[in-house]
Amino acid sequence: MAGSTQINLDASTVRNVVEEVLRSLGHDVAPSPAQAAPTSCGNNGRPRRRFGIFDEAGSAARAALDAYHQLKEKGVAGRVKVVEIVKGICEEKAVEWGKLEFEETKIGRLDHKIEKLQIVKLVPGVEWLKPYGLSGDHGITLEEFTPFGVVGAITPVTHSIPTVSGNVINIVAAGNAVVFNPHPGGARCATEAIRTFNQAIHRELGIENLICTVEHPTLESFDALCQAPEIDLLCVTGGPGVVQAAMRSGKRAICAGPGNPPVLIDETADIEKAARCIVEGGAYDNNLLCIGEKEIFVLDSVADRFVRAFKEAGAAQLNRSQLDRLTAEAFTDSKDAGGCSHPVLNRDLIGKDACVLGRTAGITVSADTQLLFADSDPDHPFVMEEQMMPMIPVIRVPSVERGIELAKKAEHGYKHSSIIHSLNVDHMTAMARALDSTLFVKNGPSTAGLGLGGEGYLSYSIATTTGEGITNPKTFTRTRRCVMVDNLRIY
Ligand code: NAD
Repeated sequence: MAGSTQINLDASTVRNVVEEVLRSLGHDVAPSPAQAAPTSCGNNGRPRRRFGIFDEAGSAARAALDAYHQLKEKGVAGRVKVVEIVKGICEEKAVEWGKLEFEETKIGRLDHKIEKLQIVKLVPGVEWLKPYGLSGDHGITLEEFTPFGVVGAITPVTHSIPTVSGNVINIVAAGNAVVFNPHPGGARCATEAIRTFNQAIHRELGIENLICTVEHPTLESFDALCQAPEIDLLCVTGGPGVVQAAMRSGKRAICAGPGNPPVLIDETADIEKAARCIVEGGAYDNNLLCIGEKEIFVLDSVADRFVRAFKEAGAAQLNRSQLDRLTAEAFTDSKDAGGCSHPVLNRDLIGKDACVLGRTAGITVSADTQLLFADSDPDHPFVMEEQMMPMIPVIRVPSVERGIELAKKAEHGYKHSSIIHSLNVDHMTAMARALDSTLFVKNGPSTAGLGLGGEGYLSYSIATTTGEGITNPKTFTRTRRCVMVDNLRIY
């Protein structure tokens, strides 16, 4: 027709425009087709919104992909809004959700469950993604950090809502959507947090399923998530089993794996401060932190002084027979395929209070005791296994060299975290080189490594196994280069 302009719009663009107009007029808008498939009707006949909660990984991944495209339309401002929402809700609901997680998982300490949510605000957001620019005789080049698409994330039972929240901030700040397969032991509270985040995101941005989860996660749903074609990247936070499974999946995986952080104390250390720091880090959430102090190597010459200072700082000592009793309950022997026996951790004692462990060991300690310790051999299960209990073995060593050698053995090459208390720079350097750990804290509690009393930022996923380090928004981006040849240069 003369004088008319033909505009070709596909159905989804038309739908987005219409939805946007309806929303701006204050109408409730039905989900898009990708979301609509699993949506059922509520009592009033209107579609019941899923707000990210799905029965299986496949439909969750499809809805997340749709949400990823919607997020793109909202620009960087949309991501900033999501980060603001997640940080705000974590602070507001810290007490309620801390209790929820504690009641469900039954591990750790309520005060620290609450605090771990209050500090979610320390996780970095969109401001982390600064493009890198180059300018020269041949023009200008810009490297930008762009999203992958949809990230599949696995979270541990040790910090269910905090890991979900920290992952969401990092992943969405980078422009991605996410599907979680949380640890079954912490899935109910994770689901509650995800629903709440999505409801607020939907109110503000009109996106319903930016953060998806499998409501009843299993190893099968983990496999399905790994196989889903919509998933571009995995972020795995957990122990050796899940890390190995993710790395076998064929997808690129960012793996925040296990640790067993050793502490070394030499003769130059401020012994009293070292004792206080170890109680602060090692007793945190009943030693559930992967960065938490798990075994102490102390020089013979200062060992007695350290034991006195440790008791003054609030730690209670077990004698040999009490340690034996606790060990018999905390570990059972299992034989591997080659017939070698290995200690297997009794999960019923993980993250329990020091007084519960004390009772198991046959000693009554006061209810406010935060940490137990016992003199131990270097190859004791409490030294060699990542036990996640507020019971730290103390091993006396004749030299710093021997201490570093034993610390390296106990850390198993995880390259996770290690701590030294020393004023001798040569000792610090030798330990740093030998253990090559992702976090190496000097003269502070392990928690200082995550910006809590030390410089730095917070994350609940420390990508040790695959080497990305303390995860941040940039971890979840693809680097793309934009080049203008011989032009746009202004000098
Ligand atoms: P876990 O490995 O038992 O469970 C983690 C998740 O993996 C759960 O969702 C679980 O169901 C799943 N899973 C376990 N084995 C699997 C397998 N073979 N295949 C597929 N899925 C599997 O860990 P957890 O007890 O929840 O958490 C404690 C562990 O996580 C410790 O080893 C700790 O060091 C580690 N962790 C590491 C970091 C880090 O940032 N590096 C942070 C927190 C915890």
